Amino acid sequence: MSKTDYDAVVVGSGPNGLAAAITLQRAGLSVLLMEGRQTIGGGLRSAELTLPGFTHDICSAVHPLAAGSPFFGTLPLQEHGLEYLYPAVAAAHPLDDGSAALLAGSVEDVAAGLGRDEKAYNDLMGPIVRDWPLLAPEILGPLCFPEHPLVLARFGLKGLTASTVLARRFETAAARALLAGMAAHSIQPLSNLATSAFALVLMAMGHVRGWPVPRRGSVAIADALASYFMSMGGKIETGVYVRSLSQLPSSRAVLFDLTPRQLLQLGGHRWSSLYQWQLERYRYGMGVFKIDWALDERIPFTAVGCREAGTVHIGGTLEEIVDGEAMTAAGGYPDRPFVLLAQQSIVDPSRAPQGKHTAWAYCHVPNGSVQDRAEVIERQVERFAPGFRERILARHVFNTAELEEYNPNYVGGDINGGMIDIGQLFTRPALRWSPYRTSEKGMYICSSATPPGGGVHGMCGYHAARRAMKDIFF
Ligand SMILES: Cc1cc2nc3c(=O)[nH]c(=O)nc-3n(C[C@H](O)[C@H](O)[C@H](O)COP(=O)(O)OP(=O)(O)OC[C@H]3O[C@@H](n4cnc5c(N)ncnc54)[C@H](O)[C@@H]3O)c2cc1C
Repeated sequence: MSKTDYDAVVVGSGPNGLAAAITLQRAGLSVLLMEGRQTIGGGLRSAELTLPGFTHDICSAVHPLAAGSPFFGTLPLQEHGLEYLYPAVAAAHPLDDGSAALLAGSVEDVAAGLGRDEKAYNDLMGPIVRDWPLLAPEILGPLCFPEHPLVLARFGLKGLTASTVLARRFETAAARALLAGMAAHSIQPLSNLATSAFALVLMAMGHVRGWPVPRRGSVAIADALASYFMSMGGKIETGVYVRSLSQLPSSRAVLFDLTPRQLLQLGGHRWSSLYQWQLERYRYGMGVFKIDWALDERIPFTAVGCREAGTVHIGGTLEEIVDGEAMTAAGGYPDRPFVLLAQQSIVDPSRAPQGKHTAWAYCHVPNGSVQDRAEVIERQVERFAPGFRERILARHVFNTAELEEYNPNYVGGDINGGMIDIGQLFTRPALRWSPYRTSEKGMYICSSATPPGGGVHGMCGYHAARRAMKDIFF
């Protein structure tokens, strides 16, 4: 066999690129990780976006998926500087009457706060949380031969329904709104099949692990992953945007932490006509409009539980969120959009000067939108936290075009690497025996455009690297 520069090259250093590189390097292979920007991390970077001394998460902020990742759980990330900080309340959902539904503590704790829906919540979440150790590896991987088919089927009966249907199990506005806020992480109309799965997974992770933020910012996850990778002899090159396959050093395998759009640009001539056709039909979903604030004080939420919550789902009732998401998916702009808000500094004082705070939020917008949504987002926060606006010292915004310019993986502002609806849930990025293989031998895709999809968990990278190892190396 001819000698190559490396056993494997990974293009892109997001959580999945890092996970793929670590998996290969840990198996004794030599790996080069190439990143287009000057710093590594993809969706895991933090920076002073507003004022000196205020650290903001440029992309991801809250990490139930990282803390609960079966792959990250095998890595010594604490020894490499990662510390998760857990807010007392994982997520809160305020309502107009001044109350809030809270995801905090055990299934029984949350159920007890839901009044007439206590039994319904226990019945819904109890079995999922009990099955979680068996369920997590099944859900966070490709759909092939499940080791626990009955456990998966039990989850599927609930998870594959539309969240608007699952919500009928509840009577109270609070329980229905809590479910809707969780399901809205799917970034698609809540009447779509399988949107319940997003809600159930996020709520289960709230009970099993909590929803932490890393001390110093999300960048701390990338730093810990990179430090571990390099401690095993892995190499990283930054500031090299790969625009042609001819730029790559020689290797036996290449793994792309990129989405189908970039794969087409990069290697179109190399893909089979069927694979090219499949990639061209890959669908991207709604984008996000994102805002970061430097604040003089904590956000003065009326509902006390929201003040202790790392994440706050702002959007009122289930009906309001359902209508808003449907309108956005159809290309419109609701007056009262669903807003996902994080307040990292309430548990991590390193994010802001003493006594000051940071907050991070986004709402969904039509793919490719450049409309400024700062005013409507702030109005929504003010609705549940009167006096919020007076706390703002500075703000920084990203529309979808700016997000895509920052990271070409966010096509049209889609932060999940492509739509995760029922049509692409099991077949992203293309219907193939292994979703991680491209049509070219030795070339793989390892980004969030593969199963299990968006979020910081590294499972796409891990599974893609395992596929490459089985095919090429071992
Ligand atoms: C605003 C926002 C908020 C989010 N919030 C959360 C959250 O709170 N929790 C959560 O779990 N997830 C969140 N996410 C989603 C999460 O960040 C992504 O799902 C995750 O980062 C995807 O990881 P990845 O490794 O597949 O790709 P990415 O993280 O996108 O990394 C891809 C990397 O490849 C590089 N690259 C691209 N093209 C090239 C090229 N041609 N050559 C070389 N390098 C290249 C990019 O610069 C980037 O570093 C959020 C994302 C955004 C944008």
